[in-house]
Amino acid sequence: MSKKNYTFILMIIFIIAACNSGKKGIENALASITVDDLKNHIATLASDEFMGRAPATIGEEKTINYMAEEFKKIGLKSANGDSYFQEVPLVKITAQSPMALDISGGQQNLNLAFSDDFIGGTPQIKDEIQIDESEIIFVGYGINAPEKNWNDYEGLDVKGKTVLMLVNDPGYATEDINLFDGKSMTIYGRWTYKFDEAARQGASAAIIIHETGAAAYPWAVVQNSWSGSQLYLEGNDLSKSDLQLQSWITTESAQKLFGSAGMDYNELIASAAKPGFKPIKMNLNASVNFKNKVEYTKSNNVAAIWPGNKQSDEYIIYTAHWDHFGVNPDFEGDSILNGAVDNATGTASLLSIAEAFTKLPEVQNRSILFLAVTCEEQGLLGSKFYAENPLYSLNKTAGIINIDALNILGRTKDMTIVGMGNSKLDNYAVAVLEKNQRYATPDPKPEQGSYFRSDHFSFAKVGVPSLYLSKGIDDVEHGKEWGLEESKKWLMANYHKPSDNYEPEIWKFNGMIEDVKVYFEVGYNLSITNEFPEWNAASPFKSLRDKMMKK
Ligand SMILES: [Zn+2]
Repeated sequence: MSKKNYTFILMIIFIIAACNSGKKGIENALASITVDDLKNHIATLASDEFMGRAPATIGEEKTINYMAEEFKKIGLKSANGDSYFQEVPLVKITAQSPMALDISGGQQNLNLAFSDDFIGGTPQIKDEIQIDESEIIFVGYGINAPEKNWNDYEGLDVKGKTVLMLVNDPGYATEDINLFDGKSMTIYGRWTYKFDEAARQGASAAIIIHETGAAAYPWAVVQNSWSGSQLYLEGNDLSKSDLQLQSWITTESAQKLFGSAGMDYNELIASAAKPGFKPIKMNLNASVNFKNKVEYTKSNNVAAIWPGNKQSDEYIIYTAHWDHFGVNPDFEGDSILNGAVDNATGTASLLSIAEAFTKLPEVQNRSILFLAVTCEEQGLLGSKFYAENPLYSLNKTAGIINIDALNILGRTKDMTIVGMGNSKLDNYAVAVLEKNQRYATPDPKPEQGSYFRSDHFSFAKVGVPSLYLSKGIDDVEHGKEWGLEESKKWLMANYHKPSDNYEPEIWKFNGMIEDVKVYFEVGYNLSITNEFPEWNAASPFKSLRDKMMKK
């Protein structure tokens, strides 16, 4: 045997040995993720003592201190100098209800009652909001999308006026694949976009017509989200605009309103989904008057880091929102919204994944940042604040892995990649799932716009490739249909309600733990490469990343 061959064989043996020890290492790390740990963390975070984890309350104090202490115990370093916290400055605006929305000028005057018919508030930092007989204009879906050749505000000056609009987008309504993204909700379908656009157009008030199918959740969810105080990042754009009122009305109220204007509701809704739609003056006026309480406050993201040993200035971020809705006395009986699934589960998993990284026999190459963000439920504010004020350079951040609401229904053959096809990060998820004889499913309900509804989106919006890997639907025992049906049932019964409780006797943890291990391994694989996974060519976020990376 030549010396060259001998060296070659030795090298192969060495590589195999190295691979084996590496594999064993991952196994140890994976084995450190246990159901007991997850249960303990979830039980604590979702306990009544934590009072539904509302930002800027005692519930926050308990939550963020628990997270910081646990990260410290595990051996992670503080990520913000010597602090585990990143302060998020907020303004808390509380509309003093009861208020009512009065509609005049039509066949009959309508008085829409707060909460039952209409709900909303103001982003303005003002003691009183007074809108007097502001002209109502129906602007269809309220979308201005030049690249899609669509402008519901075409030729319209809405200064001082009230815009009335539909939720979701024309593609959803028509299921026409040539319109927007067909049935999949685009960013233009989100209510956040619609209020932002109304503000950019200079409107005084914006009213969105709620529709359960199009919004992807029932009126009760709108009620819960908009009753009580609303939080905004200090100095946000909406508060600098003329928009005095962000509001919603029920479908029934909208039908009455169109009826009073002598217009056919269904006909106009249908016309709004057709190209060439023109905004319609309703010859109705909106009036609303309420007092406002404005308070400055703050909340905190929790940030802990496990530094890499070779490319320690490159980062992978795991995000999960720790916050939920706190206590809402409007609910009789159990008034604590514990948010056990949403998102005590995801928050708990950050701790388990962090611990797994500390159990690797050799420290991974890149640094791993664990970011438990605040105010997700208030409009992704904590993650938005981080994305605008990053602790570590975003152009050195290889990717985001977001975890929001784990699986409690049992083992699944699949996991869902929400927003599948957006970036090369998908490949990492697919590889780990396949290794475990599982597979990746695209979002089964793309019309719900889930990719725009959790914290990874704050990062996508500034260009950082972001993976939103979520629970699967193909139940190992009962199949897909059952999985879809059960998760829908859970959503309707418990989503953003006091009944989202920790129920260890009912929940199944065998699927949850497999998913948490997948999250770990996806991040681990990304932490040992040099790759900065890119957005795919068609992604709306690609140009931002290219600019950031100076391509
Ligand atoms: Zn959530």
